[in-house]
Amino acid sequence: MIPSVLPTYNRAPLTFVKGEGAWLTEADGRRFLDLGAGIAVNALGHAHPALVNALTEQAHALWHVSNLYNIPQQQALADKLVEHTFADTVFFTNSGTEACELAVKMARKYFHDKDQPERVEIITFDGSFHGRSSAGIAAAGSEKMTKGFGPLLPGFVHLTFGDLDGVTNAITDQTAAILIEPIQGEGGIRPVPDAELKALRQICDDSGLLLILDEVQCGVGRTGKLFAHEWAGITPDIVMVAKGIGGGFPLGAVLATENAASGMTAGTHGSTYGGNPLGCAVGCAVLDQVATPAFLESVNRKAGLLRQKLEGLVGAHPEVFDEVRGSGLMLGLKCKAPNLDVVHAGYENEVITVPAADNVIRLLPPLTLTEDDIAQAMIRLDKAATQVEAVLESA
Ligand SMILES: *Cc1c(COP(=O)(O)O)cnc(C)c1O
Repeated sequence: MIPSVLPTYNRAPLTFVKGEGAWLTEADGRRFLDLGAGIAVNALGHAHPALVNALTEQAHALWHVSNLYNIPQQQALADKLVEHTFADTVFFTNSGTEACELAVKMARKYFHDKDQPERVEIITFDGSFHGRSSAGIAAAGSEKMTKGFGPLLPGFVHLTFGDLDGVTNAITDQTAAILIEPIQGEGGIRPVPDAELKALRQICDDSGLLLILDEVQCGVGRTGKLFAHEWAGITPDIVMVAKGIGGGFPLGAVLATENAASGMTAGTHGSTYGGNPLGCAVGCAVLDQVATPAFLESVNRKAGLLRQKLEGLVGAHPEVFDEVRGSGLMLGLKCKAPNLDVVHAGYENEVITVPAADNVIRLLPPLTLTEDDIAQAMIRLDKAATQVEAVLESA
């Protein structure tokens, strides 16, 4: 009999009932160190006082009004994002995949309104992930996500990750945009080198294309800058945001330049919930914490410490791990042992990590992780690795 919850997930037998900072309490009372943060969502950890305050204050005042009316919390969050980023304008969604939908629509409308309606194609890369909507799965294109769901939304050209020559060769008079994650998350924490992001920006400039970045996972302070593309010093045209921006409240956004957004006039897009008072009150509280030099500096400092210790862990367990990759607090351990074995051994030692493609385990801890938490992380990951090693040796 089909379970009452549609069985699209293979769930671990863990039930968390409470969270505080980087720690989760299981129903049986065990405390787990959370290095997954709900897949980079709980940017400020669990039950951060500033977020609890923002949410409860807004909950007492007003939960929801339609986008038919002014929403001051939405205006405030948009103003903050415009102040702190390249963007001139922002649309709020409830998720990353909805941000992908709008990014695709925005790019097509841009060229439609420039009397180039044939320019509808978007170049994307293998290993990418842009969500589970029809546009999202067509954009990423991997068979794992698309099989059985055809006909797929047309207009995506899939290239090999890192193949810059391929990009130049793939551009035709139908190309509208390039869509890329500055660091692939689901794909296995695969960073795009700064030089390559710069080259993609140049290619877009030379061919009049829009550069769309998916920062749903790598954005909102995760890499130690507010957005990952800032490390490369480039200005994108459109950026997809979600996950960390709501700190656990379902919230996403599309950031855009005035030029890229020029086609999106009244009536061209909408959302019932997107940008509602509750979500935006929380989003403002998240941004007030994260978008400060001191906070980002602390992310970089802790990231440096964690990375250094992880290098030591890899050195100590060469049969289990291959290398550390990633940037800031978006780190991956490329495994030699099966990554799921390492994740499960983590569960047994009360530390949460997240598997990714390419036999990687992801560490996406709350950005508020403390040095004590890092010390605990290393103790638990070391135990987990020792356990995996023992199994490998007995096999
Ligand atoms: C999670 C993710 C998405 C999809 O976000 P949802 O909120 O699950 O729809 C899109 N792109 C990237 C890079 C992601 O990590």
